[in-house]
Amino acid sequence: MKKFFYKNFLMYLIITILSLLLIPICFTKKFKIEKAVIIENTQNNMTEINYDIEEKPIKLLHKSDNSIEELGLEEYLINVVSGEMPVDYEFEALKAQAIVARTYTLYQIENSKKHENADICDDSNCCQAWVSKEKRFERWQENQEEKWEKIKDAVYSCAGEIITYEGKPIDAFFHSNSGGKTEIPINVWGGSNFPYLQVVETVGEDEYSQYYSEREFTLQEVEKKMKDNYKDFSINWNDNDAISILEYTESSRIKTIKIGNKNISGVEARKIFELKSSNFTFEKNGTNIKFKVIGYGHGVGLSQTGSNTLAKQGKNYEEIINYYYKDVKIEKIKNN
Ligand SMILES: [Zn+2]
Repeated sequence: MKKFFYKNFLMYLIITILSLLLIPICFTKKFKIEKAVIIENTQNNMTEINYDIEEKPIKLLHKSDNSIEELGLEEYLINVVSGEMPVDYEFEALKAQAIVARTYTLYQIENSKKHENADICDDSNCCQAWVSKEKRFERWQENQEEKWEKIKDAVYSCAGEIITYEGKPIDAFFHSNSGGKTEIPINVWGGSNFPYLQVVETVGEDEYSQYYSEREFTLQEVEKKMKDNYKDFSINWNDNDAISILEYTESSRIKTIKIGNKNISGVEARKIFELKSSNFTFEKNGTNIKFKVIGYGHGVGLSQTGSNTLAKQGKNYEEIINYYYKDVKIEKIKNN
């Protein structure tokens, strides 16, 4: 009897210990970068992060028909990079874009719950752009294979590399053209800032078509757009300060603007008047208001045109990444 009790006790003890060991494994999140083993001093002097990507494809949601496609990470990224950056940009800029897109993808998988059954979608307004090879070829019209190979090379030449801060993938924001100075996240989305996203200045962004744009509205159109958003909106166009800029952000974008009886943020004004950025001035010409806009996009993180300029100056992709994101590392995902 005693012997039987001990035998049972031992068995329960073993089962309990095994369960305790197994439970955390069952509940482990699909992608485990937080507790990743970082191996220093690898061949190319780049640290590595254990990450079993090959066995866990990206589940991509196609918004047009709600279908979900499973793709390998690098394979998925070729279509993303071809959709996010012009193919005629410098090779090192395309590589920087590939790393940013890879980092963004892993960050979304780790932190975002945007889509129930998918990791990410193909809509640039929601996640990041993904364009099918067929559609991309239609848009390119000529030298398609050559262009596709250039992007493929850019993606694979930095395969598995991501941007990390304290061992985790960063929230790798990027935009088209900073207008010369990037913005900090709190001025765009509120919330909190990230130590790796600072105001960064770049020269040469004015050489791109994305640098400058204008939009003109009649006074009636301005009133209608404001009333659509604020029911109690009113304005007296005879007032000298009918529209006036009250405050600028650290990066010289508009923080607060007064339009009639409303004080709104530059980001809100950008949305209402469909401006390319919140860095703008305005002019009243008789019965019209003209907005003159500098830059394209929210301005946070890496500037694509700025990256291309840096690449033209001879900077490589690592230098470009470190230019736009502060105190970060480029680490390589290690396939087990
Ligand atoms: Zn999405």
